[in-house]
Amino acid sequence: MTVIYNKVALIGLGLIASSMAHAMKRGGLATTITGYARSQETRDIARELNLCEVCDTAAEAVQDADLVVLCVPVGAMAAVMADIKPALKPGATLSDVGSVKKAVIDAVAPFVPEGVHFVPAHPLAGTEHSGPRSGFATLFDNRWCIIVPTEGSDRAAVAQLEKLWQGIGANTDEMDADHHDLVLAVTSHTPHLIAYTMVGVADDLSRVTDSEVIKYSAAGFRDFTRIAASDPTMWRDVFLTNKEATLEILGRFTEELFSLQRAIRTGDGEYLHDYFTRTRAIRRGIIDAGQDTAAPDFGRIPAAR
Ligand code: NAP
Repeated sequence: MTVIYNKVALIGLGLIASSMAHAMKRGGLATTITGYARSQETRDIARELNLCEVCDTAAEAVQDADLVVLCVPVGAMAAVMADIKPALKPGATLSDVGSVKKAVIDAVAPFVPEGVHFVPAHPLAGTEHSGPRSGFATLFDNRWCIIVPTEGSDRAAVAQLEKLWQGIGANTDEMDADHHDLVLAVTSHTPHLIAYTMVGVADDLSRVTDSEVIKYSAAGFRDFTRIAASDPTMWRDVFLTNKEATLEILGRFTEELFSLQRAIRTGDGEYLHDYFTRTRAIRRGIIDAGQDTAAPDFGRIPAAR
């Protein structure tokens, strides 16, 4: 048990905040954890789960907090900041978990009071579930949390936040916001868009009925449906705010798709085989890095919790 912050306030009490609360309690990383969510329903559930000390206003939750973490959708960060700004303690660290960094920094930085250290972050872990009931303590174990210090970020505040995320179970790395947004466009944002599209295509195809799609969904499609079940508000905000990087990667994706389409049409088996050999090696790299297991998983193995 190593206390890293005396008081941590979580604004927004969904999947990420509730998982942070469980993990901080597991590690004894904070003496007090407070939290706030905009709806009475979410606050009631958080109280029932004994997630943290649940407050009825965001300003009350951040009072005297040494660390405040914004855990709301990217598009809601500015409004939340306007709300809590007057209540932030001088010397406190302000962070967030938003999936896009440049837009969050642009939205939040103008509200950060003198003497408050703003250190944005993004834990690369999640599930397709949302809300306070969906959180669990091991969500971040052995995942990465990218810390995105802003210009002039206080190094001691950055180091303390990294220590918290390591205590939560994550590995930490630092990146600048633009690079973060490009990396995430490749590894997360564009793949989500492709999954949403493929599930949409299946839904639109009248010659294959919905019941056939569901009944015969083999692993590939089933995995797409899991990704495409992710929270619509969160993902709408991701695409609206990480526009440039996502469009760049989508452009490259479309070019590759056309070349594969051409190989199929012209019967270029060698091209297809070489391509799939290259992509298989990337999968092996992910397993070797400990970010997934080699166990066959066709969506039937319950997630380890
Ligand atoms: P979530 O489970 O849907 O929870 C979102 C929380 O934000 C809820 O407490 C919700 O309050 C609150 N909220 C929603 N809209 C709001 C608004 N307009 N104003 C104030 N509060 C609002 O979401 P999550 O998955 O934890 O995601 C939270 C953040 O983490 C997002 O910025 C997301 O980009 C980032 N993130 C998500 C993942 C992931 O895979 N899910 C991974 C890494 C980072 P109510 O419940 O009262 O509506």
